[in-house]
Amino acid sequence: MPALARQLRGLGGCLHPIRLDGHRTEHRLDTSSGEIGAVLHRLNSSDLPAGSLLVRCNNRRATRCTACAEVYRRDTFQLITAGLRGGKGTPEQVSSHPRVFATFTAPGFGPVHNRPNGRPSCRCGTNHPADDPALGTPLNPSTYDYEAAVLWNAHAGMLWRRFSIYLRREIAKRAGLTQRDFRHVARVSFAKVAEYQRRGAVHFHAVIRLDGPDGDTTPPPAWATAELLTDAIQAAARAARVSGPVVDGRAHRFAFGRQLDVRTIRGSDFTGGSELTDRAVAAYIAKYATKGAETATGTLDRPLRFVAELAQLDLTDHARRMIRTCWTLGTRKDLAELRLRAWAHMLGFRGHFSTKTRHYSTTLGTLRHARAEWRRLQAIPEGQSEETTYVLAHWAYAGTGLNAIEEWLTSTLTPTPGTEGEQTHG
Ligand SMILES: [Zn+2]
Ligand SMILES: [Zn+2]
Repeated sequence: MPALARQLRGLGGCLHPIRLDGHRTEHRLDTSSGEIGAVLHRLNSSDLPAGSLLVRCNNRRATRCTACAEVYRRDTFQLITAGLRGGKGTPEQVSSHPRVFATFTAPGFGPVHNRPNGRPSCRCGTNHPADDPALGTPLNPSTYDYEAAVLWNAHAGMLWRRFSIYLRREIAKRAGLTQRDFRHVARVSFAKVAEYQRRGAVHFHAVIRLDGPDGDTTPPPAWATAELLTDAIQAAARAARVSGPVVDGRAHRFAFGRQLDVRTIRGSDFTGGSELTDRAVAAYIAKYATKGAETATGTLDRPLRFVAELAQLDLTDHARRMIRTCWTLGTRKDLAELRLRAWAHMLGFRGHFSTKTRHYSTTLGTLRHARAEWRRLQAIPEGQSEETTYVLAHWAYAGTGLNAIEEWLTSTLTPTPGTEGEQTHG
């Protein structure tokens, strides 16, 4: 039991680990002759307390694996923070580059129950409490434009790409440069995350930064200000359009909603007041990175195989109609490329949840690799150098998850978030 507990502790609370069968041998390597020598260490999965090697599932969704989603959230926080104030290989000078935090909303598809600012109540005459499940659902479902709502989600990623092209053009225009010249003096870097509004429409939050020609390592030109960047973002967001499909004679065309919020990030945690800080932005983005459409649908966090499964799920009528609309539109041959059935659980959105440009900062993969490398170096016995070992390994997939005893044991071990030696933020 103590040995099994030790192995399970290594999973950091993951309840759906991947089980691998196989072995790993470390040999001494004679660096002068290049010969593989004596076995230093041998690991056989059958000798392990759980009978298999257990590897974390690394699922980013909080509804699927709380422990792994928490690691993902912290990594995302580090990634966003690195792009705002430097660190993890990104120079600190990025904190002096123009940086904004922008929210791009979806257009309207019909009136929904809400908590309007400055008005006494919702149009339906009710004062909805903040946790009212009716919030975000249509006032009149029979006239709500479900078709456009689902197709919006399916085209949102494309609209973002169009926007990012326009943004470079709008910045160049304001700097009095051709687009080709612009590339030689400045570069736009961003990190963005998709979030579902309660009405089930995807919108985007993004950190957008203006750098010198080589990205994070070069200072931006003198004309590059947060004001110019903000102005260019507004113009590009207004201009961005994507032509959608023609459904039963109706031509769909997509643009961002009129509500566009662009705020300058002033940096430093010391300013106090209402200034938007690096930390607040990073915490906000990291929080949404671990969520999927569940925020809008309540429970559904994996693909549906049959529409009949909907009957068993605890969903709002609104979420059900969004999913059904995906399912129905998914039968049309001309919409095949949108893969609406495969992405029905995401209400039609098939883009990446969080994306960033290459020069924004580090990557999640780099952070994961650094963590694994650190653990590996900790495991090397004193006096043994890693250059002198040769590793042979063979692993085969043997299943997923824990058995009842392992699961029980894990639940008694699970550390509270933030006690694993990594800092907690947000
Ligand atoms: Zn996990
Ligand atoms: Zn209402």
